[in-house]
Amino acid sequence: MRFITSIGDLHSVIAALRGAGKRIGFVPTMGALHAGHMSLVRKSKAENDTTAVSVFVNPTQFGPEEDFEAYPRPIENDRRLCEQAGVDILFAPAAGEMYPGGYATYVLQERYTEAFEGEIRTGHFHGVCTVCCKLFNLLKPHRAYFGHKDYQQSVVIRRMVRDLNMDLEVEVCPTVRESDGLALSSRNVYLSPEERSQATALYAALRRAEEVFQSGERSVAPMADAMRKVIERAPMARVDYIAFVNPETLREVRRVESEAVILIAARLGRTRLIDNLRLTAK
Ligand code: AMP
Repeated sequence: MRFITSIGDLHSVIAALRGAGKRIGFVPTMGALHAGHMSLVRKSKAENDTTAVSVFVNPTQFGPEEDFEAYPRPIENDRRLCEQAGVDILFAPAAGEMYPGGYATYVLQERYTEAFEGEIRTGHFHGVCTVCCKLFNLLKPHRAYFGHKDYQQSVVIRRMVRDLNMDLEVEVCPTVRESDGLALSSRNVYLSPEERSQATALYAALRRAEEVFQSGERSVAPMADAMRKVIERAPMARVDYIAFVNPETLREVRRVESEAVILIAARLGRTRLIDNLRLTAK
């Protein structure tokens, strides 16, 4: 595996691979890698000649009050996991390599970034779009792999790729969960034992809504009520939003006839968790 921190080195490696006609799969991450990230790596390895992973805690997607400084950075462990998984390139630049002095250019997406995570985390998607655009320019992947876990992000990235005519395919992979249903996240390490046990309420609430939907309910209000009842059993959880949205437009719906995605975000103590579930009528 090549461990690369400089853009100059990356350019020559990517140019050689592209010149040799290799198909490049790319998995962008912020590191603290877990089985969710590694499922994207496996998919990329199965579908491409070369797999590149980036580990970059991107400062521009964190708000001033957020956990940028505290975000876990176990780079040696990440390096080992990538090596073991057969990753070909691990790109882990310093912040100054990606945003040198005088840096002034950003990618701003409207509409899909305004609600939910974009509303609560002002400027978040501005940073996400900018860093993904830069990473796509640097790694020149044929395919990039994202997790369904960050559903709004996956819609935003697909939209950016389409709108800016970027020449790559975006693949969105299923959420990997702990055995009790909690979605794997690098932020789960922040949870105290009590918060960790109550964090299962997010997925339990999503599954409850699915149960109500599959029993024939089509109105959102009773499904959302059923979710809130589940969350009430986890008194440490403070819900930021529960929303039923059209999977493509992210617009909120009041009824679900065939398909919707339920988005949920909640805080447990100082940790913010998000999750989602796709409803499809049987
Ligand atoms: P992050 O390092 O949290 O920015 O995540 C990097 C990529 O991994 C994103 O595309 C996430 O959606 C994806 N990801 C994070 N957690 C999971 C999970 N539990 N299952 C599948 N993909 C995930």
